[in-house]
Amino acid sequence: MTKFSDLKLDPVVLSAIADAGYETPTPIQAGAIPHALEGRDVLGIAQTGTGKTASFVLPMITLLGRGRARARMPRSLVLCPTRELAAQVAENFDTYAKYTKLTKALLIGGVSFGEQDKLIDRGVDVLIATPGRLLDHFERGKLLLTGVSIMVVDEADRMLDMGFIPDIERIFQLTPAATRQTLFFSATMAPEIERITKAFLKNPARIEVARQATASETIEQRLYSIQPTRRDQSAKQKREVLRALIQSEGADCTNAIIFCNRKTEVDVLAKSLKAHGFNASPIHGDLDQSQRTRTLDGFRDGTIQFLIASDVAARGLDIPAVSHVFNFDVPSHAEDYIHRIGRTGRAGLKGKAFTIATPADEKYLGAITGLLKMPIPVGTLPEGFGFSEASQQPPRERDEKPSRGAPSRSRGGASRSRGGERPAPKPLPEPIETAEPSSAVVDVPEAPAPRAPRPDHTARTEPRTEKRTEPRNAPRPERERRESGGTVRGMGDHVPDFILRSFRTAAQAAKDGEPEPDEGSDA
Ligand code: AMP
Repeated sequence: MTKFSDLKLDPVVLSAIADAGYETPTPIQAGAIPHALEGRDVLGIAQTGTGKTASFVLPMITLLGRGRARARMPRSLVLCPTRELAAQVAENFDTYAKYTKLTKALLIGGVSFGEQDKLIDRGVDVLIATPGRLLDHFERGKLLLTGVSIMVVDEADRMLDMGFIPDIERIFQLTPAATRQTLFFSATMAPEIERITKAFLKNPARIEVARQATASETIEQRLYSIQPTRRDQSAKQKREVLRALIQSEGADCTNAIIFCNRKTEVDVLAKSLKAHGFNASPIHGDLDQSQRTRTLDGFRDGTIQFLIASDVAARGLDIPAVSHVFNFDVPSHAEDYIHRIGRTGRAGLKGKAFTIATPADEKYLGAITGLLKMPIPVGTLPEGFGFSEASQQPPRERDEKPSRGAPSRSRGGASRSRGGERPAPKPLPEPIETAEPSSAVVDVPEAPAPRAPRPDHTARTEPRTEKRTEPRNAPRPERERRESGGTVRGMGDHVPDFILRSFRTAAQAAKDGEPEPDEGSDA
């Protein structure tokens, strides 16, 4: 088995690795590092969680060990799709470069230009950036990319999803093609990604680590399919199911990431959970950077127990011990299911991933079970669970603004939950949306729903690509506004094709059962 000491890394890098407690390189590290150290381009097909960050940071530190940074001309560049991922790469860099004198700057949105300008002016060895903010600095004349000898593109598939490919192409063109070494990482190779790599990589060493098409065996997956009694109360009834599941897990649920498909739902759910006495905080791209950082830090150090997240905000985040993942919404892209549940059960720890589904999710579940090549085992709702009386009435304003101490109104009828008569569930911490026994909770049969193929990346991206290209020439404030949340709050950059053709309100889209994917969190 390859050891780090076999990899011809700088001894100071080896010392830092030893301090971090890593003994053996992961497959992507063992595959990519030797080629990178030889100066070859690398095409790494690997997902987050495989150790891919170190597979480019370690050789970069070694290669940059000689030479000095010049003002406004960074020697290397790492592009990340989101601020959080960029910050995570910067942390990795600090860890592995601690015995060197290399300097770095992190260029992400939500942080003032002034401090970033100062760092660039002094000269940095490593520039870690999101594409939007990097181009903003470039356009302000503060940055020259002609000194970049190593360029890394991290999570290229997510860049594609977020419409950053035109920015990436432009950045490639601003760096010196003849002398640049490129390390390019993507979890999947969509045709558009293939095209970029053909255009900008020179005879790359292709390292593909086993695709995580099957979920880790340390993750216990469960599917809770419910039949909402009212379509307009579906979200409320899902929240009741979620709370009941959390409560039934008791002390086993030390912390959890709860995924929603829409930013608006992230906010609503976080507020609702807080109102019910849960220690929950939202994270998505409409929140300002300092708030997102505080929330993540709080979740990492245990002061926040429940992180309510959108896919983009949580993608690639390295949070070592998460006991549970809840899919409040079934993800509309099957691969997101794998990414989401992969937040738990890491590093050999046990984890649980619970998914709440309604009949509207059937086609997404079909795609997920197709990817997993197995059905998600069906879970049984906690004994005695039933929808509250309130959730079976037409929605009222009060439903979203829980009032304290409101008496619960039961139908007084017998529970028609699966399994027959059951005792009333134990009261929730703040019984606003009461959970009294009712009918309508059913488990779906184990047979997988018909498989729906994942939409072609290229087709899905076209409108976003146009959307991104156009504002790049727009005045900076306009572009920042779009990149940090889009023209319509809550819609984001991941605007599906149908919305670009004919815009409808989020409420109408939700009513029609359309997902509102999350935004890019760059800028
Ligand atoms: P990444 O895929 O870069 O997000 O890394 C996932 C996690 O693996 C991070 O917590 C890293 O610190 C950790 N890691 C990276 N390389 C190794 C290694 N060789 N041995 C053990 N853990 C590692």
